[in-house]
Amino acid sequence: MAVAASLIKPMSQDNTSSVANAPVSNFITNVVAADLASGKLAQRHWAGRPGPAADHASAPLDPAKIRTRFPPEPNGYLHFGHAKSILLNFGLAEQYGGRCHLRFDDTNPEKEDQEYVDSIIDAVHWLGCSWDKAGETNLYYASSYFDWMLQCAEALITAGHAYVDSQSADEMRANRGTLTQPGKNSPFRGRSVAENLDLFKRMQAGEFADGQHILRAKIDMAAPNINLRDPAIYRIRHATHHATGDQYCVYPMYTFAHPIEDALECITHSICTLEFEDQRPFYDWLLERLADAGLLQRPLPHQYEFSRLNLTYVVLSKRKLIQLVDEKHVDGWDDPRLPTLVGARRRGYSADGFRLFAERIGVSKNDSLIDYVLFEDAMREVMNESDLRRIAVLDPIKLIIDNYPAEQVEECFAPNHPLHPELGQRSVPFSRELWIEGEDFMEVPSKGFRRLFPGNKARLRYGYVVECTGCDKDENGQVIAVHCNYLPETKSGTPGADSVKVKGNLHWVSAAHAYQAEIRLFDRLFTVPAPGARRDGDAPELERNFLDDLNRHSKTVITAQLEACLKDAQAEERFQFERHGYFVVDRVDSQTGAPVFNRTVTLKDAWGKAS
Ligand code: ATP
Ligand code: MG
Repeated sequence: MAVAASLIKPMSQDNTSSVANAPVSNFITNVVAADLASGKLAQRHWAGRPGPAADHASAPLDPAKIRTRFPPEPNGYLHFGHAKSILLNFGLAEQYGGRCHLRFDDTNPEKEDQEYVDSIIDAVHWLGCSWDKAGETNLYYASSYFDWMLQCAEALITAGHAYVDSQSADEMRANRGTLTQPGKNSPFRGRSVAENLDLFKRMQAGEFADGQHILRAKIDMAAPNINLRDPAIYRIRHATHHATGDQYCVYPMYTFAHPIEDALECITHSICTLEFEDQRPFYDWLLERLADAGLLQRPLPHQYEFSRLNLTYVVLSKRKLIQLVDEKHVDGWDDPRLPTLVGARRRGYSADGFRLFAERIGVSKNDSLIDYVLFEDAMREVMNESDLRRIAVLDPIKLIIDNYPAEQVEECFAPNHPLHPELGQRSVPFSRELWIEGEDFMEVPSKGFRRLFPGNKARLRYGYVVECTGCDKDENGQVIAVHCNYLPETKSGTPGADSVKVKGNLHWVSAAHAYQAEIRLFDRLFTVPAPGARRDGDAPELERNFLDDLNRHSKTVITAQLEACLKDAQAEERFQFERHGYFVVDRVDSQTGAPVFNRTVTLKDAWGKAS
């Protein structure tokens, strides 16, 4: 399906630029297809587990046609942006007979935690992706490669490609140069291989304090790409690592560790977001040298960059999400309003909906801002097909059928899914007192109103046609009950039911049978499409804070009257409540026999409407 171009806008400073052509393709599939056609990936060996060149060299040919990976740092919960990357990487492996590894990029000792590892594993599974394929379990931790990374660092030193620098952080910064000015060589750049090896050993042995020395690649301090101006590759950090404890006191920099992790795992296509484009020359520089030293297997992995997912009305950055949670602007990481994957699950969004959305937005190199409506539409499309229909009255008011016998209860039949008659129908009880929506009655009807008002007839869906006779009010003039008479010959599904023509149709539940439940309704978490972004007319010195754009009314809790059978709904079961939208049983706060519901999404996009 083609996507309306106006829902995908190119990014610009002010987010107001004109409409772009919708990217509905995935350029990386073209890259993979061409690589496979060229045959250059066919001669790769795979030892059955990650390792240096020597391990793979004598091993059989890799049964996987390609290898991709999803490499999260376990320092937060995954968000919708990560879902794009997960579906892309696991999707490519699936499509091309490959494998996708889940690799925890846990090389930074300070911010990582088992809680995050567990939540990431859950989220990837929830999206329907698996690292268990054809007898391989490709779940890895970068921290288990630390010894190999040290070998790589020493090999670089030995070959004259790395040195220990002892400048202070400030001196290093001052000597790095700028975009227009070349950097200056460190006075320590000329150290001998022997001296560098000795110092690096002593760094590892814990002889020095944090920051006293640093290992740098020796490339070119005048390189136009600042990332090639002798980047740092190993630093001293006396910190306890969540997996390796106090075994190491030197830790690799991300830009050094990541390419090595890819090569050890025989990754063919290392796919990342565009901000790493400027790192690609170092990625290639490093791997070439380590392959020359015989440490890493050829063919080497290649890095490809795609544009990250940006969505309107949400923030997709771990840092901002952490702030929302820590400062209690939301009720935890799994708050259904948050664009985290745990939040999405609790909200009732479906993994299939994520897949459809990812297919529709495609994969490109153009930064764009995707309209949240596109995400919700994908969800609606999937849920319309999958979810059973039920009846719920969200703003209940009593309807009393005065000519219906007080003790009588009869069965009406409602289809479980209008698109799937094979899913059958269920019996819903009908009785003298029903709950209907407050908005379905008007004492004085507005123009075009077709439901209940005195003297008007309307159909109680799956039941009878009723004629409204009036209402009861309290001392404040509030309507507390509506009265009507029913027409016995008009029961839905019986011969002649249509003999009385009506224009209005309303849903209802029997008051004596209804299940009264708590329902949470959610609105956008932010009031503007790009929270925290500058707007037209902002003074030049004005800096906006994304928290100022929070919607303070994004959650409403109501008490609703539901069809009786919903009392038995199980955690995470989702339904379409007729006329209202899609609702899921909250997986945290529900009790057996007392489910609480979250509204996943309304039936139609209501954002366009004037409020
Ligand atoms: P954030 O920028 O939110 O802090 P991150 O990039 O630091 O996230 P990682 O754990 O390093 O988080 O990300 C794992 C993978 O997910 C990386 O390959 C990264 O490129 C990808 N990724 C992160 N955010 C997005 C996004 N918005 N769209 C697509 N891919 C993303
Ligand atoms: Mg990152």
